[in-house]
Amino acid sequence: MSKEVQPCGTHAAYVRHRRKGEECVECRESERERVALRRAERREAEIAVQPSGAFLSHIGDVGQVVRQGDEPVRIEVPLSFDPVDSAKWRLAKVRGAMAVSSPRDMAALAKVEAEIIELLNELAAPKEEKKVSALDQLAAKRAERLAAS
Ligand SMILES: [Zn+2]
Repeated sequence: MSKEVQPCGTHAAYVRHRRKGEECVECRESERERVALRRAERREAEIAVQPSGAFLSHIGDVGQVVRQGDEPVRIEVPLSFDPVDSAKWRLAKVRGAMAVSSPRDMAALAKVEAEIIELLNELAAPKEEKKVSALDQLAAKRAERLAAS
């Protein structure tokens, strides 16, 4: 047995009351606050370590599960190899990371975000007349020669 009896408002007092079947509003309230605080701290830690949990459930269903508080968010991973789709996907990932990042990581993420936006704008710009490269010209000449022979 403990020599010192902990005062009301402590966890020890709350446990003591419960053991003896006593009702104490002060101890019940402070215990409730402690539990809520611990839960909030745990949730905060959980958000800090997310995103996590890549999954591959079956072929064609590649994705990632992230958590925002208690709500799991399922993110589908596109399988397209279109450069615009790819850039949009990376942009979404970077912005998702920005939403949960620490201020320390924000500068690096913002830089990547800006690069992807620039790339997307380049990809969206009307295509210039495609110049025929020297390599293409050689290939065309070779094809002609083969066809003639
Ligand atoms: Zn008490």
